[in-house]
Amino acid sequence: MRYSNEKIVIVGAGPAAISLAASLQLGGLNYTILEKNSIPGGQLPLIHNELDDFVIGVHKDGKEFAEKLIQFNEKYKLKIEFDCTVQKIDVLKKIIYFINDGKQKSIDYDIAVIATGSRCKKPKKSLIDTFEKDIYYRISYSLPDFVNKKVAVIGGGDNATIAALRLADVAEEVVLINKNEELISRPDLVMGALSHPKIKVFNNFLLDKLKGGTCLNQIEAISGSSGERLIFDIDKAVFKIGYLPNTEFVSDSLELDERGYIKVYKKYETSVKDVFAIGDIVSGAYKRISIVIGHGTDLGNYFLKDYMIEVFRVI
Ligand SMILES: Cc1cc2nc3c(=O)[nH]c(=O)nc-3n(C[C@H](O)[C@H](O)[C@H](O)COP(=O)(O)OP(=O)(O)OC[C@H]3O[C@@H](n4cnc5c(N)ncnc54)[C@H](O)[C@@H]3O)c2cc1C
Repeated sequence: MRYSNEKIVIVGAGPAAISLAASLQLGGLNYTILEKNSIPGGQLPLIHNELDDFVIGVHKDGKEFAEKLIQFNEKYKLKIEFDCTVQKIDVLKKIIYFINDGKQKSIDYDIAVIATGSRCKKPKKSLIDTFEKDIYYRISYSLPDFVNKKVAVIGGGDNATIAALRLADVAEEVVLINKNEELISRPDLVMGALSHPKIKVFNNFLLDKLKGGTCLNQIEAISGSSGERLIFDIDKAVFKIGYLPNTEFVSDSLELDERGYIKVYKKYETSVKDVFAIGDIVSGAYKRISIVIGHGTDLGNYFLKDYMIEVFRVI
């Protein structure tokens, strides 16, 4: 059997894309990755906690695991074009437009794979502008900043409850401001937060204002049901308000769910023929490294065994 020269263009070089590229490289398929950063690994360097996973092994943090991807890339010379930010995909003409070196460029494809992941959601700039030094999005490397402080955690998912529990080890007091009726977190984390003597949970409250002089001193929250306003004396605010999918460049060409993630059907194929999506960007995907690596391997195997033969009749 021989594969023809059908060109697969992958957007993004996070763990999902690297796992797909590894399969395609071994199978001898013609592919190119376009990545906006200058190294592979996507969100991995942002992970400050230890990784202890049956699939990926034990690593001090995400940066250490990202090093493995970089080494893998150097050894196998994956076909990655760095510093290429994709801006638009024309799914009718099968052309991807991107910016590289300040210039608008394009590449045509037979198959496109979107693997652009997600990013942390941040509050409106006008809300946080004055108090930037007292605002946090990650706490692992900054725990000493919270010792004996009063802290507000904004959010109600797993990341918010985990942060509240970790902060409660060092802080004087933690208030958890959650806009939903209940915490939408794992039951064990909810139980932990609700029963912790230093954590006070305020469900159905929306953060409205941050107050203070040169430092943050207070926050004001408003009840979603009664309109009641509460003021809390705090020193630091930690935002854990979820993720945003990196799908702006496909929002008018692919079917997205109500949160902006890409809907996929049979074997990661999107609403458009010959356009696939893998990793965090997939609607309903569990955001875990081992899961997205599984997506990449699974799709690679599908391309090698079935898709190229069924669709492109490669024999
Ligand atoms: C703080 C934090 C802690 C985490 N902790 C854990 C953990 O403990 N265990 C665990 O398993 N997982 C954890 N995760 C989740 C894990 O990092 C993700 O599930 C995984 O990185 C997703 O991989 P991906 O390849 O789908 O996307 P990403 O890693 O997001 O990679 C996407 C790539 O696409 C590129 N890109 C985006 N837009 C464009 C564009 N327009 N043009 C070109 N390139 C583009 C990006 O630069 C990036 O390199 C954590 C994530 C974060 C942020």
